[in-house]
Amino acid sequence: MSSEPIDLRSDTVTRPTAAMRAAMAAAAVGDDVFGDDPTVNRLQSVLAERLGFEAGLFLPTATQSNLTALMTHCGRGDEYIAGQNAHCYKYEGGGGAVLGSIQPQPIEHAPDGSLPLAKVAAAIKLDDPHYARTRLLCLENTIGGRIVPLAVCRELADFAHGQGLATHLDGARLFNAAVGLGVAPADVARGFDSVTICLSKGLGCPAGAVLLGSRDFIERARRPRKMLGGGMRQAGVLAAAGLHALHHHVERLAEDHAQAQRLAAGLRAIDGLAVDGPHTNMVFVDLPGERWRALEAFMQARSILVMSYQPRLRLVTHLDVDAAGIERSIAAFGQFMAQR
Ligand SMILES: *Cc1c(COP(=O)(O)O)cnc(C)c1O
Repeated sequence: MSSEPIDLRSDTVTRPTAAMRAAMAAAAVGDDVFGDDPTVNRLQSVLAERLGFEAGLFLPTATQSNLTALMTHCGRGDEYIAGQNAHCYKYEGGGGAVLGSIQPQPIEHAPDGSLPLAKVAAAIKLDDPHYARTRLLCLENTIGGRIVPLAVCRELADFAHGQGLATHLDGARLFNAAVGLGVAPADVARGFDSVTICLSKGLGCPAGAVLLGSRDFIERARRPRKMLGGGMRQAGVLAAAGLHALHHHVERLAEDHAQAQRLAAGLRAIDGLAVDGPHTNMVFVDLPGERWRALEAFMQARSILVMSYQPRLRLVTHLDVDAAGIERSIAAFGQFMAQR
């Protein structure tokens, strides 16, 4: 492992394990657009049951799953409320607006990553021809690695439903939240009409996401999925990776969280680094001045890959980072900060 780069840029960089590849190779498959792929069908139903929903829909990416959800909940001229930093607002190319003709209504986050109820309330439009029709509230858990308290999620979801809105949870990293809280994944999903799960983050799959909801919602979601080009054929080879991950890569997320704790503690002990976290599998580091660029190069020369959202560095632990890699990373940070 020590000759391999230590890649702390994201938990999307994991490569499928030998056991996962074997499961993929052995998958029974069929044409999923016809509903004929037994492995896709099994992944959808296993995950739906695990998260407390009637049905699921397999998609290539969580981005497409969120957009499919937006386009299923909302029509042209409708509006969705989301946080300024929500993936489905900020990091998906404006897909809801561009491809769905759905107006985003971003609002500032509360410090816990949720949305302040009063701001949500104030953002909901009256039924008046001047306004778009507010249809949907989107939350994200975890967000920036932070676990949004479940009581807060439920209060917001209940409020939204009381106002006639639907609710979507971008749970790309929902399993990190569940493992971090020590609760069942269904507890994190409860109160939402639909949920996106990403398989290619901490769960370690090469691709894939699942959208969950009621049977009727998922039936309707098939049209936007097809329109967006997400109807795959023998996708069971990918779904098999998802099923393998659900069996083997969920509880182990606790190891990623423990590695992030070690990393944060080690970095905190270094003079001059302002450390935020760990938040589940993420640690954030603020560097003085413009040093982040020099740091990136310094680390790269030592086969440690880091990515800055300048001037903040986000370090992410995952399946392919072991304890030795964490120790080596801490040591390299120490050397960098010692040079001046
Ligand atoms: C990564 C991520 C997505 C998008 O996932 P892709 O599968 O890369 O498209 C959506 N939402 C959140 C919160 C994410 O972290």
